Amino acid sequence: ADWDAAVAAVRQLPADGRVLLICHVNPDGDALGSMLGFALGLRRLGVRLLQATFPGPLEVPEPLSGLPGLDLLVPESAVETEPDLVICFDAASESRLGDLADRLAGKGTALVLDHHASNSGFGDVNLVDPDAAATSVVAEELLARLGVPLDAGIAECLYVALSTDTGSFRFDATTPAVHEMAARLLATGIRPGEISRQVFDSRPFGAVRLFGEVLGRARLEPAEAGGQGLVWTYATLDDLARHEQRPYVLEALIDPVRCTAEADVSCVIKQTAPGVWAVSLRSKGGTDVSRVAVALGGGGHRLAAGFTAHGTVDEVIERIRTQLRTYAPESGADQQG
Ligand code: 5GP
Ligand code: MN
Ligand code: MN
Repeated sequence: ADWDAAVAAVRQLPADGRVLLICHVNPDGDALGSMLGFALGLRRLGVRLLQATFPGPLEVPEPLSGLPGLDLLVPESAVETEPDLVICFDAASESRLGDLADRLAGKGTALVLDHHASNSGFGDVNLVDPDAAATSVVAEELLARLGVPLDAGIAECLYVALSTDTGSFRFDATTPAVHEMAARLLATGIRPGEISRQVFDSRPFGAVRLFGEVLGRARLEPAEAGGQGLVWTYATLDDLARHEQRPYVLEALIDPVRCTAEADVSCVIKQTAPGVWAVSLRSKGGTDVSRVAVALGGGGHRLAAGFTAHGTVDEVIERIRTQLRTYAPESGADQQG
């Protein structure tokens, strides 16, 4: 990775330097946590104008509404038009940045921090580590190289990012280095119980009932030729309206679905507009779902991927079935991404 160039890009900022931090659309814990944690670090360095934003309306999902540094968020429409440095977090491609992608092409330097294997390196300086469990791993290392010590605010942001992207330290990406980083973060005095309760274990009662209804219509499709079983469900805007819930509550829906022991692949199809769906895919290891997602216009990681789809639920799931047949593992040979 381009560590020296990244450090230089920050160090060479003018005294009145303006920095814009951006992350992917519908930001998750890693996108917001790595961005805000890094922003708080830059604030400690004395960077004068700091703005953080993401595409679309500035709505922070309730589970992430306790993150330190949220005061740095500025609506997309109100950000500095010619920053000296743009730093992009957790986005595999410019398509995940909406209209903010233009800012990367501006006069300033574009620095990209990410951990998606599919990242093409669309910045001027790219810190992309496909082996990193989260973008926050990259962010922590860059802060260390800049000589910024961790404080509780930075640590809480990076901890939320690390724990969300590792499924609370359950996924295979949870290496000794991940636990060592978690130890450094916890050593600042942050409270993992409180943080985890807000991030993972706090849901409006209406969302509990909505989950009940949507899980009740889940389908299990047994392993077909070479496939390893698919479990899937869908949620519509009407489901959300009837239970008076906001769309973000559905982000967590994949978790109970992917518990299904009989299926390797799990899928949740979430309506975002009439005829438009956000699709989440997960695998337990037998299938590279990023190949399915990429083939259908999206992206992601081997075990967690997604894409945007148009049409009916039946059409969307049929496209997924077709891709799963294409990428069915032959003999477990395709285990490495
Ligand atoms: P989730 O299912 O949690 O929304 O997304 C899982 C992963 O899939 C994300 O970390 C992201 O890498 C990828 N992903 C989800 N939706 C999209 C999409 O519409 N386009 C692309 N390129 N990647 C996506
Ligand atoms: Mn993300
Ligand atoms: Mn991530």
